[in-house]
Amino acid sequence: MRDAPLLIVDGTVVTFHYVLTDPDGDVIDRSSEGEPLPYLHGAGNIVPGLERALTGKASGAKLSVDVAPKDGYGERNDELVHAVPRESFPPDAELNAGTAVVAEAENGEHVPFWVVEADDEKVHIDGNHPLAGVPLHFEIEVVDVRMATVEERTHGHVHGPGGHSH
Ligand code: ZN
Repeated sequence: MRDAPLLIVDGTVVTFHYVLTDPDGDVIDRSSEGEPLPYLHGAGNIVPGLERALTGKASGAKLSVDVAPKDGYGERNDELVHAVPRESFPPDAELNAGTAVVAEAENGEHVPFWVVEADDEKVHIDGNHPLAGVPLHFEIEVVDVRMATVEERTHGHVHGPGGHSH
């Protein structure tokens, strides 16, 4: 008798290849050839819609997954768009469109923003993830499924090649 394949459940480390495209079919991101991406399933390491689609699959599975914005990087919220004075950034800060900056909220929480555009006086920043509001399409190939170590589960992320090295 052969062992049953390990299925993807919370607490497994899944290694997969992916190609992410937008509704025009343009490639937004993809795993590098020969370097599939590992993540800890059930820890919110990947967008919820993709995590849900992978649940219960095994090594070797190939999936096409459509993820709506609410199950991806969220809907756009126009209240998260701000213009702030240029001098509130360090003079040498690189503020190109798409640059991620971290602001500290009044409660001390760190909030990510992305630069939309900047001139000498004002920096327009957007707290929406650049892919907020965008329907996502993933082509997935599951390369490996293994049980996470206790340490990985405690940390909430993968250790080793392709993961955290600390
Ligand atoms: Zn760790």
